[in-house]
Amino acid sequence: MLGLAILLTACSEPRTHLLLITVDTLRRDHLGVHGETRDLTPQLDAFARDAVVFDAAFAPAPFTRPSVAALLTGHDPGTLGVVSNAHPFRGSVETLATGLWGAGFQTAAVVSNAVLKPASGLARGFEAYDADMREHERIRGAPERSAEPTTDAALAQLDRVGREPERPFFLWVHYQDPHGPYTPPPALRERYLGPEARRPGDPGQLAVSDDSRGLGAIPSYQYLDEQRSPAFYRAGYAAEVRHTDAQIGRLLAELGARGLERRTLVVFASDHGESLGEDDYWFAHGEYLSDVLVRIPLWIRGPGLEPGRRADVASLLDVLPTVFRQLGLSPPADLPGRDLFAAGAESRSSVVHLSTFAEASVPRRGVVAEGWKYVRSGGANPAEQFQALDETGRSTAPNGAAPQMALRERVRAHGHELARTSAPPAPSLTETERRTLEALGYVVSEPDETPEIAPPAP
Ligand SMILES: [Zn+2]
Repeated sequence: MLGLAILLTACSEPRTHLLLITVDTLRRDHLGVHGETRDLTPQLDAFARDAVVFDAAFAPAPFTRPSVAALLTGHDPGTLGVVSNAHPFRGSVETLATGLWGAGFQTAAVVSNAVLKPASGLARGFEAYDADMREHERIRGAPERSAEPTTDAALAQLDRVGREPERPFFLWVHYQDPHGPYTPPPALRERYLGPEARRPGDPGQLAVSDDSRGLGAIPSYQYLDEQRSPAFYRAGYAAEVRHTDAQIGRLLAELGARGLERRTLVVFASDHGESLGEDDYWFAHGEYLSDVLVRIPLWIRGPGLEPGRRADVASLLDVLPTVFRQLGLSPPADLPGRDLFAAGAESRSSVVHLSTFAEASVPRRGVVAEGWKYVRSGGANPAEQFQALDETGRSTAPNGAAPQMALRERVRAHGHELARTSAPPAPSLTETERRTLEALGYVVSEPDETPEIAPPAP
């Protein structure tokens, strides 16, 4: 009887909706809230003023499918077996979509990156999964959808779920535009080209690589119009961010126009960043675990949440338990992440395990813990890097003794834990899937080829 009484009480009040907005390849430092000065994100900055902004949020991987899988499940990508953009999510664990659908939510997604198509396994639990991509990248020809039709499709889903107003909804919208090749509206690129061209210390002209890696050269899939100046690409990237911001603004405005704003929990994040020349790594992601790649924006606005900044370390793995609690649901018990709004949460920090998994030319693993970010690289020349986090979570030059042994031990123990708990290797790709991914420049390897990093010499 008690259960029934609780259920009846719950049903008598309007329930909170969930809107999850993710932007592919969006660097944190291109957002005004996080220090960008070119006004690239006026719409998002306005949204952030009403949100809880996590200044030290990290993605577990610097590329799409593992990072998104972690966001949607609350599990480490390694545990899920999603260790490349070619490895599908085949696990049976609860996801945002399955959990909320089971709790009576309408579930819908609009995704505009080809590696998130239903073959990714990430569509499980969504009643509607719109992956209708009719545009094609200029170089590789990969299907994609730009920001304006993505917002149009999201609004169509809002119309659809609006027909059952007694059921709350979960809508996930994934924008693709800042991902290369950078093909913004031309006038927008022009706007940012002048200041970029005057950036001191830039190499005049870059080489062009014949692979898609971006190590010391422009990746083949980014090379446009015989342009080899960094300014052309940096301006293009900035313009893509500006263009996406306008379309997210349109989506958020429509949410308000439909009277849903006060009843909707909105989570905004990116799956990873982009290197724009840092480490001599150009217009790409996946190779390193640098801040420009794994330090991401994570903002949450919702009924009853006091807007403000948070300096404690947060992870994409924290989103599922946080969202479940905000929506009055119990998250699965075995999750590594935490509820970011639990009592006293701001005085704790998440431990974030980082990995390049099967994507990088040299395997890299790391951890954010104990006020430090630690990364070690394998391969022929193993190396270690310790960076202190400042009070806003930013990595700085080491200013004290790092707890080196403890950080190494965390990475080692996590590797062992993954080896013990990882999902069995996903079914092998079909030859067609493999060829498609390789043609897109993705590195396709089987799960048992996932690189293991030897412990560095003492
Ligand atoms: Zn991505």
